[in-house]
Amino acid sequence: MDKNVGETLKTYNQDITIGTLGSHSALNIFKGAKEEGFKTVCICKKGDEIVYSRFRLADEIIMVNDFKELLNEKIQDKLKKMNTVLIPHGSFNAYIGTGKMMEKLSVPMFGNKNLLHWETNREMQRKWLIDAGLKLPKMFKSPDEIKGLVIVKYPGAKGGKGYFLAHSKETFYEKGTKMVNNGHMSEDDLGNAHIQEYIIGVNIYASYFHSVVNNETEFLGVDKRYESFADNIGRIPADEQIEMRINPTYTIVGNIPLTIRESLLPEYLRMGDRVVEHAKKIAKPGIIGPFCLETVVKENLEIVTFEISARIVAGTNVGIGTSPYAYLKHGEKMYMGRRIAKEIKEAIKRDRLKDIVT
Ligand code: AMP
Ligand code: AMP
Repeated sequence: MDKNVGETLKTYNQDITIGTLGSHSALNIFKGAKEEGFKTVCICKKGDEIVYSRFRLADEIIMVNDFKELLNEKIQDKLKKMNTVLIPHGSFNAYIGTGKMMEKLSVPMFGNKNLLHWETNREMQRKWLIDAGLKLPKMFKSPDEIKGLVIVKYPGAKGGKGYFLAHSKETFYEKGTKMVNNGHMSEDDLGNAHIQEYIIGVNIYASYFHSVVNNETEFLGVDKRYESFADNIGRIPADEQIEMRINPTYTIVGNIPLTIRESLLPEYLRMGDRVVEHAKKIAKPGIIGPFCLETVVKENLEIVTFEISARIVAGTNVGIGTSPYAYLKHGEKMYMGRRIAKEIKEAIKRDRLKDIVT
């Protein structure tokens, strides 16, 4: 644990407040916190407070113009006075950045900040997953090597916006140049693009929770994404698709709950365990709490992992209240936000809060 976070923790009593940025999976997190008896604080952008006041889930709302203000000393002091433990989600990575959080944040955060940093770096993330023994899409070092369909991801592309598909060196340059000319990316971005084998199959996002207190990895839920424009292309006839030269984009709009074939579960459970084990080697103390393996299942039922999130994903919002896998493990009314709060409560009881924050 970072020294400053350790110092902060020493000033805390057991009356903990759960805090997060008002976005992404905040409702999930706040509801879970309330159901476990915690107070809640929302760091909220102007205009968005309608959400957190209408659902009556934030006991306190701290208004900001920009989420980066979370790093301001005044706001951090206010959070510390409330004995706040922050729960990171996708908006922390997207709008603040893991480097800045490691450098400047001294409010204790549930989870391992170091692994959030691994998550946001494509090369580090790939190494983690490969070394954990997972199957990943092939990578092509240069456009000259492209064989078959590839998905091209450039540095900093958010939520799949701006990815493009290509099936040869020629289409790579044709589409890439168009993206540069349209201002969607720079020449440099194109040069540094991540060229990945496109896996044909269905998306499965599997959410896990590694409990440090119980030393166990739980399988809590599955979802798939609902993406504009990718999920709507089938409604446009092929003739028009060709004429319009459609390039699919993957802007996330929502999520859809799923269950998976039971015969796929053994492999998903083993994959989760391997990722947890390997994380202990790369960033001590390893995974704390939620993580998600973002996979494609092929027609031969091979599972290919193209990404990991080392935190709660918004796909777990489909399980607010309950979901089949959370029900199997915990009975009714369990979901990721509540599972997080339950772990914090348990850690407080056993005087182990220091083991689950960084
Ligand atoms: P937002 O606060 O909605 O802008 O989201 C923050 C980050 O999380 C962005 O990078 C989004 O792409 C991602 N994100 C938001 N909602 C979802 C979702 N429902 N599923 C997956 N990713 C999401
Ligand atoms: P991401 O931004 O990594 O979450 O990906 C956005 C979209 O691209 C998701 O719908 C993924 O399923 C899809 N995607 C990413 N990588 C691959 C891949 N290697 N093969 C097939 N689809 C992919």
